Amino acid sequence: MSTTENAIASAEAHSAHNYHPLPVVVASAEGAWMTDVEGRRYLDMLAGYSALNFGHGNRRLIDAAKAQLDRVTLTSRAFYHDRFADFCTELAALCGMEAVLPMNTGAEAVETAVKTARKWGYRVKGVPDGMAKIIVASDNFHGRTTTIVSFSTDPEARADFGPYTPGFEIVPYGDLTAMREAMTENTVAVLIEPIQGEAGVLVPPAGYLPGVRELTRERNVLFIADEIQSGLGRTGKTFALDHEGVVPDMYVLGKALGGGVVPVSAVVSSADVLGVFRPGEHGSTFGGNPLACAVALEVVAMLRTGEYQQRAAELGDHLHRELGLLTGGGAVEAVRGRGLWAGVDIAPALGTGREISEKLMEEGVLVKDTHGSTIRIAPPLVISKEDLDWGLDRLRTVLSA
Ligand code: PLP
Repeated sequence: MSTTENAIASAEAHSAHNYHPLPVVVASAEGAWMTDVEGRRYLDMLAGYSALNFGHGNRRLIDAAKAQLDRVTLTSRAFYHDRFADFCTELAALCGMEAVLPMNTGAEAVETAVKTARKWGYRVKGVPDGMAKIIVASDNFHGRTTTIVSFSTDPEARADFGPYTPGFEIVPYGDLTAMREAMTENTVAVLIEPIQGEAGVLVPPAGYLPGVRELTRERNVLFIADEIQSGLGRTGKTFALDHEGVVPDMYVLGKALGGGVVPVSAVVSSADVLGVFRPGEHGSTFGGNPLACAVALEVVAMLRTGEYQQRAAELGDHLHRELGLLTGGGAVEAVRGRGLWAGVDIAPALGTGREISEKLMEEGVLVKDTHGSTIRIAPPLVISKEDLDWGLDRLRTVLSA
């Protein structure tokens, strides 16, 4: 057996089969490129589902992590540490907000947003105890915890994990009228992705997000934007909501916040909203640890220059122009997305998204399918135009075979 086959057989024998990875075993990576255990090179067009916006082995991020590793890595929140204040201050400033509640994974941050909204509902809005409702959208993806899968509409994500957490109302994504009708005096929040990543990079109709903002403001309901995948430069602006000039009450961030080096997530909001927590009511041993703060501080500093957003916008225009040319020929049925992020619906006759992803892998390009015949393209924002064009050429080769 080859080294690759051995590694895969051993992984399959000794791990839970909750993923169906492409048959490649990565040994190292730099920038937009990964190298497998046999020395083959692949262009990474997935970027860890947008966790690697700044590329593999980004020098600034690795240096920040290394410097912090030599100083202090963990204090728990039992004590202050000297990176915490800077991280919270800088991240809040990037978001145009006042306060930060750090966590580790995306799902934890979404759970934190849900808990914040419920507590705000009871303590500030005056919702009767146990009656708080949160409106979410169909086809959402917010993570994998039991509460979060309770309001998933994806049977794969949800089945056999009950009993489910009550208190969520699901309305069709993009339908403002349905959201308005679902709202009651007990609604404390609307939780949505400004662009639905896992659903296939679905961009809602123009006007929907400003409409959600207006409606939530009118009804004293918190607008929670899950920008875990869409935020931090991916779409060509710092946040996907920026494209519509919308500011939510709460951003939920993760993935790229840790630069692909460490898991870092956060809820970012006003001092009033996050002020609902009192000591002991919520927390995490690793949330806001010194190593996480040091890396995330560097991420925030990089984003504050605007250069990554601009790069995503420029390369994204190019990507969408090129993908648009493919839609005429019958091989591609639709292309959606914004910035350096695209959901591409391949004509089912050419294969499933999985089969297309495997063929692309053989050509030296790594992407991943979502549902049916859709593949997702989201390279690191540091990818060169030449490499992006090379990847697109490989896609054209696969689609014309
Ligand atoms: N929210 C969104 C929009 C996501 O795309 C994801 C992950 O794909 C999550 C939440 C969950 O993040 P994590 O896997 O870090 O828990």
